[in-house]
Amino acid sequence: MDRRDFLRNAALAGSALALTGDPADASPAAEPLSLFDRPMRWAQLTLAENDPGTYDIKFWLDYFQRTHSDAACLSAGGCVAYYPTKVPLHYRSQWMGAGDPFGDLVAGCRKLNMFVMARTDPHAAHQDVYDAHPDWIAVEANGQKRRHWAMPELWVTCALGPYNFEFMTEVTREIVSKYQVDAIFSNRWAGSGMCYCEDCRQNFKAASGFDLPRTLNPQDPARRAFILWKQQRLFELWRVWDGAIRQANPNARFVANAGGGALSELDMKTVGELAPTLFADRQARSGLTAPWANGKNGKEYRSTMGRKAIGGIFSVGVEEAYRWKDSAQNGPEIRLWALDGIANGLRPWFTKFCGVTHDKRWIPVVEELYAWHYRNERYLRNEAPLARVAMVYSQQTAHFYGGERARQKVEDHTLGYYQALIEARIPFEMVNDRLLDAEHVGQFKVLIFPNIAALSDEQCRQVREFVARGGGVVATHETSLYDEWGVRRTDFGLADLFGASYDGAMDERMMNSYLRLEVDAAGKRHPILAGLEDAERIINGVNRVHTKTTKEYRNPPLTLIPSYPDLPMEEVFERVPKTDIPEVFAREIGKGRVVYFPWDIDRIFWEVLAVDHAKLLRNAVDWAANEPRPVQVDGPGILDVTLWKQKDSMTLHLVNLTNPMMMKGPLREFIPLPAQQVSLALPEGRRARQVKLLVSGKSPRVQESGGRIHLTIPSILDHEVVGVDL
Ligand SMILES: [Zn+2]
Repeated sequence: MDRRDFLRNAALAGSALALTGDPADASPAAEPLSLFDRPMRWAQLTLAENDPGTYDIKFWLDYFQRTHSDAACLSAGGCVAYYPTKVPLHYRSQWMGAGDPFGDLVAGCRKLNMFVMARTDPHAAHQDVYDAHPDWIAVEANGQKRRHWAMPELWVTCALGPYNFEFMTEVTREIVSKYQVDAIFSNRWAGSGMCYCEDCRQNFKAASGFDLPRTLNPQDPARRAFILWKQQRLFELWRVWDGAIRQANPNARFVANAGGGALSELDMKTVGELAPTLFADRQARSGLTAPWANGKNGKEYRSTMGRKAIGGIFSVGVEEAYRWKDSAQNGPEIRLWALDGIANGLRPWFTKFCGVTHDKRWIPVVEELYAWHYRNERYLRNEAPLARVAMVYSQQTAHFYGGERARQKVEDHTLGYYQALIEARIPFEMVNDRLLDAEHVGQFKVLIFPNIAALSDEQCRQVREFVARGGGVVATHETSLYDEWGVRRTDFGLADLFGASYDGAMDERMMNSYLRLEVDAAGKRHPILAGLEDAERIINGVNRVHTKTTKEYRNPPLTLIPSYPDLPMEEVFERVPKTDIPEVFAREIGKGRVVYFPWDIDRIFWEVLAVDHAKLLRNAVDWAANEPRPVQVDGPGILDVTLWKQKDSMTLHLVNLTNPMMMKGPLREFIPLPAQQVSLALPEGRRARQVKLLVSGKSPRVQESGGRIHLTIPSILDHEVVGVDL
């Protein structure tokens, strides 16, 4: 079904209900905002070298206006300069002649009162740079200078030496001085692989005493030192560029293209301290990717950025390994990716490569989305998420425990739990493991540790305090079995919370193992087994930590049925039908609750997606929370549910992920969901003044009782947003 058809049908079906749409309500908030918090919709035009003189600047400025874009990111310099630069060796576009294409765009955007950020890209250089400064070029492990992988007549630059620290600082200074832009956004500024140049060799030796590592093993002392040194060096560069920018324009700042979750390179706590605003550069799906992956960026960035503005860069083209840069995605695919980011607090940023548009089909898609966003801006500014659950991510676990296998050993656990929370429709945030103090986790009732293997003593102490304050913890597999450097402890750092100790062994790749569902002394099952009433046993995971109980633990809800032969078929029968080995520890500690699964429930869920595991993952969170959810949404389908506090209102987002193309785009069409029942807790002592559906435009019938509002949403095509004025 096409979006417009759906809206037409929905409007007909809902014609008996009052339509809302007081235009005064739709005007953007009038309060003063910091310069970097002001932009709500970003437009990026990345010029190709031959765009000047070829592309239609009027079209772009008109499009920026039509889309209500209030910020622009425009190509300025680095690999190619789009302005008459005076910095020696700064390569100018061969098509710009005596013109100033960057300056023309800046002037046009300023007329539209847009925030202007200049884009630089320092990662590649031309032959004249190589000839004049061979020391600026990156070096391979074999000592050869590194040619550009996609365009071999160019050279890849060293990110950690004088090319960035000196040359690009001059370029940055020149752009800001000349055009008084609000910010510099640098793309591919952090290097393209390991560099063995003389500068890197000497600087690393002086800082650490080691030669540059030639292994990726994080337990190698030189490798460990390098992981830290490279970050220090990049943060130093960040400060150098930021200083040069502020000298030229005191209000302007450096905005790095950086950040992410556990697998990202730069420490997110430091990034959160340095960045005035930050953008997730994950432009579209590729391969097997769930559409919630864009929302995940928002949660990860917010975990260290707090209330500072964050945005999500989305491409209008197909983003796969083959890089069809001049393509256009199917409309529903563009919409869903951007909508899930918006629902998770990312301000939308569309990016278009090349000023000449070969495929125009994306143009009305972005225009329609941005127009809706503009009309409803006051429900999208987001003062704070109202989630009560948070999932921890840990870069140190990825760097030092995961190493080369961090994707499987670390990220797959996170992805599995993430999918389970989406299916359970539980609103949640993500938390950086370096920010587990009361100030940063105080709003949450439950913290989830999806195989957060590497935790320091101090971090374990913070988790203990969280539970002592009445918090709930759900942890899986090897959580806390290693210190912050990925070195195995003799026992879990959180053994006292788990009520379980490490028993010295690990099973990997278990075949054909099961879990027995048990009853307590009164013959009842634990709430963690809800929804499995008709099952006596379910499948186990495949990786399992051997544990021994440290506290008396009667009637564990799940016990191990060990592996037995899966071939030949005549031999497939259980040898040990029943053990007393717990495969979940569920404990109450004061007012807090702790659930620990010794096996890889979250990772195997990501691999196999067994519904029984989804239920256990959901129930563990609900039981550990020991309170009603802030929002309950009942009905068929898969929804990403997020809930926000606004100034004098609340916003509930429901993004419809129900689609045959959910795990692998591109979407063909949206599939409308049938009616959904919503029960939403109001802030204490507040009442709902007005409730609106901001997509269908309807005012639903609302019942209020017990501090909650109850309403029915008749149907959801791509998304619905409930705006609650308090
Ligand atoms: Zn180097």
